[in-house]
Amino acid sequence: MNNQDKIAIDLFEKMAPDGHEQVLFCSDPASGLKAIIAIHNTSLGPALGGCRMWPYQSFDAALSDVMRLSRAMTYKAAVSHLSLGGGKSVIWGDSRTEKSKEMLLAFAQHVDALSGRYIVAEDVGIGVPDIEVMQKVTSHVAGKPTKQGGSGDPSPATAYGVFCSMRACLEEVYGVDSFEGKRVAIQGLGKVGFALAKRLHEAGAKLYVSDMDPELMAKAGRAFDADPIHGHEIYRVDCDIFAPCALGGIINERSISSLSCRIIAGAANNQLASSALAEQLMDMDILYAPDYVINAGGLINIYEELNHYDETQAYKRVSEIYGRLKAVFALAKKEDISTAEAADQFAEARLKGEAS
Ligand code: NAD
Repeated sequence: MNNQDKIAIDLFEKMAPDGHEQVLFCSDPASGLKAIIAIHNTSLGPALGGCRMWPYQSFDAALSDVMRLSRAMTYKAAVSHLSLGGGKSVIWGDSRTEKSKEMLLAFAQHVDALSGRYIVAEDVGIGVPDIEVMQKVTSHVAGKPTKQGGSGDPSPATAYGVFCSMRACLEEVYGVDSFEGKRVAIQGLGKVGFALAKRLHEAGAKLYVSDMDPELMAKAGRAFDADPIHGHEIYRVDCDIFAPCALGGIINERSISSLSCRIIAGAANNQLASSALAEQLMDMDILYAPDYVINAGGLINIYEELNHYDETQAYKRVSEIYGRLKAVFALAKKEDISTAEAADQFAEARLKGEAS
């Protein structure tokens, strides 16, 4: 077997286990574009998912990320009862120094060539102004600016969905869904984390916050009387809820033993480094709110835009995550399985056409 055959076989072997339909490698030497679009599953509708621009350490890291994220989008759309499939894209590069209009236009041309099988939206490193640029070349974009009747930045809706989910968690653990006097530790004060912190502060929670950016921690201290926590110490904070709102994979073999919370509920995608950790959390009596169930607010908000966007209606739909999460908890209890497994069962039933 020659080296090229080996590369091709490796790629197909990567696609097979999770059932990816299509993975595209997109290049434009003139603008420096190197991007990957992963379409995981389109059985419920077109694959909608954000485009992430990130300076990955390697090609393999970029490919693994886009494949994990696109699969999560399939499950997120399915569990949220949306007629959408799962897809995601990544542009390999630093959004602060390497992004250009030419690069975004070249990427949008690749999206357009898919004729709607993939609809692109915002993600880390790609914002509403970038979507506006892509719109010049393709109509297959979502999360358009509000001035165009679009839903704009999805982050506030994501934060609202996580907030509603935390209420369901509190009710499950303490029997009442009030934040009064509850301690919440938030990792990551970006677009979602900061909006979530605001809601929690207004609802009476005591906040502990960590971010790589000391300015953001200071800002949260001033605005919400939040206590700053540095680095990995955030895992050790004795609290009711730990809210991962920064990176994926942060619940892992190393961090799990540090946790001192009753509930994990946050916006970050793919929080568990491996699925076995869901059972470990169960054994530790920590209630885990499955990430793709509770961070679907932004996707639900964007989905409303595909017909006619009405913010009140969209937020009402986002609030339905509360009931959906309660159903996940009920199934987990009934079957004596982890909450992550229960969420997967809901999503997979819908993908197989066994649920409405
Ligand atoms: P963001 O880029 O605006 O914010 C992320 C924040 O995390 C930044 O302030 C960054 O400094 C901080 N951070 C990075 N590494 C950290 C670390 N090790 N410790 C503490 N802080 C760290 O991103 P966002 O839009 O707020 O999204 C947050 C997470 O939620 C991401 O994982 C994203 O994929 C996920 N998510 C976002 C949305 C959305 O609508 N924006 C929807 C679903 C899921």
